[in-house]
Amino acid sequence: PLPTVAIVGRPNVGKSTLFNRLVGKKLALVDDRPGVTRDRREGDAHLLGLDFRVIDTAGYEDEDPDTLPGRMRRQTQAAVDAADVALFVIDSRAGIVPLDEEIARWLRSASTPIVLVANKAEGRAGEQGVLESLALGFGDPVQLSAEHGEGLADLFEQLLPHL
Ligand code: GDP
Ligand code: MG
Repeated sequence: PLPTVAIVGRPNVGKSTLFNRLVGKKLALVDDRPGVTRDRREGDAHLLGLDFRVIDTAGYEDEDPDTLPGRMRRQTQAAVDAADVALFVIDSRAGIVPLDEEIARWLRSASTPIVLVANKAEGRAGEQGVLESLALGFGDPVQLSAEHGEGLADLFEQLLPHL
């Protein structure tokens, strides 16, 4: 079986865009509204010669986007626990918000390795968010633009030891 990578993070950070980028098909629904992904999507991903299974976690829809509902948390926790590595995605343009910190708190207690991904990092608009993300405790983030396909070589380098 292929190794598994779970993509986690609050709504609207670009999880589904990253999923689509890795899978190479428009399998996950991307929308400007936060949290539109209906459920977990899985696909076979290819990244510079690495093959793995990728899971786009979701489950925020119809919930208050400012809290982390238990149902979503359980579902995402299960995906993280089952994965070989989890990509914790933040929006470097929006910066770190309390929900990112809440997700970081419970990801820190997971036994699965976590790779921090600062998405929307194209151009210079994300510099402040990248700096803020250091405080989450997962080290230097991979700076990525899922939408523009930038930073994928760095993502490959960070995934390689875990797959
Ligand atoms: P999700 O809720 O975490 O799955 O986020 P989505 O993938 O649905 O993306 C939310 C919004 O962010 C959409 O409008 C995307 O087009 C946008 N987005 C995703 N990746 C990037 C990126 O790398 N740069 C910019 N500027 N916007 C992005
Ligand atoms: Mg989504």
